[in-house]
Amino acid sequence: MCKPGRPKVIALGDINLDMIAHIPCYPQPGGDGIARTLLTRSGGSATNTARALARCGIATGLISRAGNDVFARECLAELCMAGVDVSLVQRDPIVPSGMMFIVVTPDGQRTMFGYRGANARTDPEALDPDAIRAARWLHISGYALLESPQAEAALRALSIAHDAGLAISLDLGLEIVLRKPDLVRTLFPYVDVLFPNEDELGALVKADSLKKALLRLHQIGLSTIALKLGARGCMLSEGGEVLHIPAFSIVAVDSTGAGDAFAAGFIAGRFCGLSLRACGLWANAMGALAASVEGGESPGRSDILPFLRERACCLQWRDWQSELDEILATLE
Ligand code: ADP
Repeated sequence: MCKPGRPKVIALGDINLDMIAHIPCYPQPGGDGIARTLLTRSGGSATNTARALARCGIATGLISRAGNDVFARECLAELCMAGVDVSLVQRDPIVPSGMMFIVVTPDGQRTMFGYRGANARTDPEALDPDAIRAARWLHISGYALLESPQAEAALRALSIAHDAGLAISLDLGLEIVLRKPDLVRTLFPYVDVLFPNEDELGALVKADSLKKALLRLHQIGLSTIALKLGARGCMLSEGGEVLHIPAFSIVAVDSTGAGDAFAAGFIAGRFCGLSLRACGLWANAMGALAASVEGGESPGRSDILPFLRERACCLQWRDWQSELDEILATLE
């Protein structure tokens, strides 16, 4: 069904079946919440980033673990269609696939019920070291570090990637920063790009300004930090330079998956050799596009091209013309 190229970027983390149900109102305990609409798709932070990268035309693979069930077949087929190489996804004969049941009420409030299922059983011994060595970039989702043996699988992949000279990125997540802050810090010297948001940065280091907090992170070994700032865009810190990249103005519908798409944009820019400013702009565009649709759908080339072409004609973005041209030339 799918004939992927050998992956050049590998994302490691969860694969879930997301079921997004819109209900008229949240029921009392024991009551019924009958959905008006139901959307199903594959989710999980690493999966979202992998799909967005593949949809931008970058050969991307996913290391994860799914159950041996109908949900896994549906998710894997959908990812294949998006161009993700799923040959590195392990299958668990016993434990079912991870699942997120997300209930949305008309006021936009989302309530999630989650089950990590087979993800947490990702087996370090079942990794394919040659496939990792053949890639150029390993992206790890912080959720993968939460439980054993998946955490050992993530650490083994990181060690193989580091020894083989791959670029390594880490998308934290607040849960891992709160539960295993020391582990997270020990990884920093191996990580080329960290993607925290403000809450995660605040939980990692105490400082009275964002710039000082970023500096502290560099002091514990990080080379590049792409700090996600929601509707304010992002801040990039590298080599003593701190840049603020403004957000694209959009009608925000649902910020689920915006951070995952943001990471994909930054990795894509880096992978294609673009300037730091252009990488930040590509990341912001991907995040904005994801935030402007229901259900955190991963944006790709066909979304980003018209979006950036339109901005390239706006006076407001004239100071970013060369970066917009860099991205457009890469994608066209
Ligand atoms: P996370 O969910 O990981 O905290 P954010 O909510 O900060 O991530 O979103 C990631 C990125 O997506 C932001 O840095 C920004 O570039 C973009 N983004 C998110 N929300 C908006 C918004 N309302 N308007 C414009 N861009 C947004």
